[in-house]
Amino acid sequence: MRTPVSRFRDVERQSNTLQPAQCLPPCHEQPNIMWFIKDACGIVCAVITWFLVFFADFVVLFVMLIPSKNLTYSLVNGTLYNSLAFLALASHFRAMCTDPGAVPKGNATKEYIESLQLKPGQVVYKCPKCCSIKPDRAHHCSVCKRCIRKMDHHCPWVNNCVGESNQKYFVLFTMYISLISLHTLVMVVLHFLYCFEDDWTKCSSFSPPATVILLILLCFEGLLFLIFTSVMFGTQIHSICTDETGIERLKREDPAWEKISSWEAMKSAFGGPLSVAWMSPFTDCTCQKDTSGHVPVFPQGDIIEEDVIEIPLASH
Ligand SMILES: [Zn+2]
Ligand SMILES: [Zn+2]
Repeated sequence: MRTPVSRFRDVERQSNTLQPAQCLPPCHEQPNIMWFIKDACGIVCAVITWFLVFFADFVVLFVMLIPSKNLTYSLVNGTLYNSLAFLALASHFRAMCTDPGAVPKGNATKEYIESLQLKPGQVVYKCPKCCSIKPDRAHHCSVCKRCIRKMDHHCPWVNNCVGESNQKYFVLFTMYISLISLHTLVMVVLHFLYCFEDDWTKCSSFSPPATVILLILLCFEGLLFLIFTSVMFGTQIHSICTDETGIERLKREDPAWEKISSWEAMKSAFGGPLSVAWMSPFTDCTCQKDTSGHVPVFPQGDIIEEDVIEIPLASH
């Protein structure tokens, strides 16, 4: 009988490639090497993201704040804006260059499967593309060419998958971008109100047409980013609180994992009890992640033979 879980598994269906001995020996990846996905589209999107943040910063500083006669207004807003922009870019960098929770490549070897000490009749799932034993809730990403633990989605804007180990940085990135977008829009509105009352030539060091064009572009960018990132932020927090990734929600899988409470899920994603560290892209997730290579185990009878590696009854 097919279970709702096994129906959707992204697994090999040709029995001849299911032999664990056919896998190459696992390549011993050096953990210290920085994670970076060499995907042209993702790199272009990530560069565009940084460019747009720098463009917005340039317009905010040189069109609105520096020419302003109110020094306190300029200092307070300039400091706040640049701090948020710095945190947004730092979160983006961490989201892009942190291993999202990749499963070791090519570990579906006979030795590894034997080391799991599975009981006869138990089954493990193997990813045919990266030849690895898939832990529960891991999915294969065709861009990263890896299986990622608790993969939510592949985001070209951060040129990386959003998974178990970098979700915090992605959430912070969307939060800080939506905050600077909101801040930008408030400042643009105030600037327009001020300039309508005052002489246009005095409220910017650029010519009035250039000022208006730059402010309209900034307004457009701010609105677009605010909508996009605040929706993304809400979706991510919902995913964390319901302990269900974007992929699991799309596939409408019946949860085969034990769901944890919303608060526990938040603590797990953000790396410990509530503190300012939750807001920092510089603190690592120190919480206990399940990196033991936990593999799903289904009772006999619930398995589909071509989807899984089944431990023969006579092997132990
Ligand atoms: Zn894979
Ligand atoms: Zn990916």
